[in-house]
Amino acid sequence: MFMDVSSDVKNIKGIGPARAKQLSKLGIYTIRDVLFYFPRDYQDMSPLTFKQGTEDETGVFPCIVTGSAVSRKTRTGIYITKLPITDGQNKGYAVFFNQPFVEKSFYPNQRLLLIGKIKKNFGVYEISSPEWIKFEKVSNIKIERIRPIYPLSKGISQNFIRNTVKNAIEKFSGLEETLPNDILSRYNLLSLEEAIKNIHFPQNFRMLEKARERFIFEELLLFQLGVNLSRYYSKSEKRKNVYNTIDLEPFLSGIPFTLTSGQEKVLKDIIKDLKSEYIMSRLIQGDVGSGKTVIACAALYLSVKNGFQGVMMAPTEILAEQHYNTLKRFLSPFDINVDMLKGGLAEKERKKLLLKLKNGTVDVLVGTHAIIQEDVEFKKLGMVITDEQHRFGVKQRENLVKKGHCPDVIVMSATPIPRTIAMALYSDLDISVIDTLPAGRQKVDTYVVNDSMRKRIYDFMASEVKKGHLVYVVCPAVEENELEIINVEQHTAYLRQEYPYLQIGMLHGKMKQDEKDKMLNRFLLKKIQVLVATTVVEVGVDVPLATLMIVENAERFGLAQLHQLRGRVGRSSLKSYCILISGSNQGTARERLNYLMNCYDGFKISQKDLELRGPGEFLGVKQHGFFEFKFASFIDNIEILKTTQKLANQILEKKYLLLPEYKNLKKSLETKICI
Ligand code: ADP
Ligand code: MG
Repeated sequence: MFMDVSSDVKNIKGIGPARAKQLSKLGIYTIRDVLFYFPRDYQDMSPLTFKQGTEDETGVFPCIVTGSAVSRKTRTGIYITKLPITDGQNKGYAVFFNQPFVEKSFYPNQRLLLIGKIKKNFGVYEISSPEWIKFEKVSNIKIERIRPIYPLSKGISQNFIRNTVKNAIEKFSGLEETLPNDILSRYNLLSLEEAIKNIHFPQNFRMLEKARERFIFEELLLFQLGVNLSRYYSKSEKRKNVYNTIDLEPFLSGIPFTLTSGQEKVLKDIIKDLKSEYIMSRLIQGDVGSGKTVIACAALYLSVKNGFQGVMMAPTEILAEQHYNTLKRFLSPFDINVDMLKGGLAEKERKKLLLKLKNGTVDVLVGTHAIIQEDVEFKKLGMVITDEQHRFGVKQRENLVKKGHCPDVIVMSATPIPRTIAMALYSDLDISVIDTLPAGRQKVDTYVVNDSMRKRIYDFMASEVKKGHLVYVVCPAVEENELEIINVEQHTAYLRQEYPYLQIGMLHGKMKQDEKDKMLNRFLLKKIQVLVATTVVEVGVDVPLATLMIVENAERFGLAQLHQLRGRVGRSSLKSYCILISGSNQGTARERLNYLMNCYDGFKISQKDLELRGPGEFLGVKQHGFFEFKFASFIDNIEILKTTQKLANQILEKKYLLLPEYKNLKKSLETKICI
């Protein structure tokens, strides 16, 4: 009897309601789920002699029992059983802890397969707490050459999962191939069925590699199709808003500084876009402080001077407020009417503002995502700018764009994303980078210290406050936790107790938005001198008096994120510091953090971060469904990434997705992009 892949796991031999319930905790409900529950690792079952084994890696040792097991109780109450064994060349012991029953399981001359890590203890081989298989049995059960090791949860054993998968694999039917035949043969890939079988119970390591390769290929192909899809459907939209007068001279002579070369370059890109026959969709990346706001202002200026309205959207009310002030300062001298749609606006005022927006009295509107609400209408929206992109979903951006009359779009991001990732994430956008900082920017002195320095660091904090400066203290967790990670709540209490004369506030993501805004405002106004916070502060609020950033448990953050946090200080001419406190003495953690002491280039830092941790962990990227790869990695699979990129473009260009053979690929793509 074959089992359809969509049927319930209870159809598998040995699975009743209780077992089914346990499996559901692993997200397994159907036969298909079992087939796609992939091993996290593999055990090479090739037999080893004691000498060939190592301390670090689990090995498989065929051996013979040479005597009776002997047990003793240690003074600390541990029951130790030692079983004498030999591999034919060397003698040794299998050692068991608190398992008195094992004594009776063994007898002299018995043949065993022991699975565990081996080490030499005073010159004698010992295998501690091994798994054992009696050899007599081995002749009737077939042992795989390579054994899968699955991620588990409580109450479920490796053997149970292995048997479940094995039973499912022997009998499943109706698993449809997702890749078209011509792709399978052109790229010499295993079929889905072969790949599934070999990912669980590989015939050999080469077949395991082939199985992995197929899944990597498929993941990256879907990824490339997904991100390039929009290019074929929206990118080439023709411009409707014509720019007749592109003269920035008045605006540029009005600002109190000259643009950096990086800013000029980006402005050129924008002007080129506005002159082009297609609408602009451009991502502007620039490190914190590189001066993105003035570029946004320039774009809005051009837009209004050509008869269009513009919006600028920020992720929080406070940021929106800061932008509002800047925009007003830069733009109102040119008769440009800037207004802000505040969250807490009274109904009457809100109505008034919306009316002015609709009749075109307001030229530029600033706000949070409240701007995308349905009743907000424009007379002629021509320029849409969003700041701090990684806080917004693609959907939100699209909604905003829909309000316009094919508006041009600029997305600004302070997260320096390595080019490979940026192109993948934002393939529907062209990318410009502001690669210079305004002259005279001082660098934020960065130090990595360990726990023992904490008291001194906090005294330094107190002395900074005494000078009238402000201090951020960032912790990785909000509340008490079993991992003993320093958390905002307890740390605030601790600092208040140690420094009762300081005004200390706290800020974290579990607070409501208006509470957060209030707290940040109090910090801005110096009513609070020390702000203990989670990484919610990484999004660019400008607090010029902040001169010290202390990060607790710094080893828990990515480099890109720490760099972002560091950007919160050093925003004026005041000397500023960033101190990373790390409890971890682990060499690599320390080395990673030390990188920040000498490097201030956001792109270099994020590239390093990417190399060290992979894109899944990369700042903000995790929320992006496309990056949830089970097999693929941007670092290790660059070649397949390139191959699939070419292939994806070809598929889209030739509209292959409409062909019947591509039906299943299209279906996978549709489920994947519903994010
Ligand atoms: P970010 O890119 O982080 O958004 P901002 O736009 O907030 O940076 O700019 C940071 C500060 O630098 C602002 O005070 C801004 O007025 C100033 N600034 C921007 N461009 C220049 C420039 N070319 N020369 C000097 N100061 C500049
Ligand atoms: Mg900014």
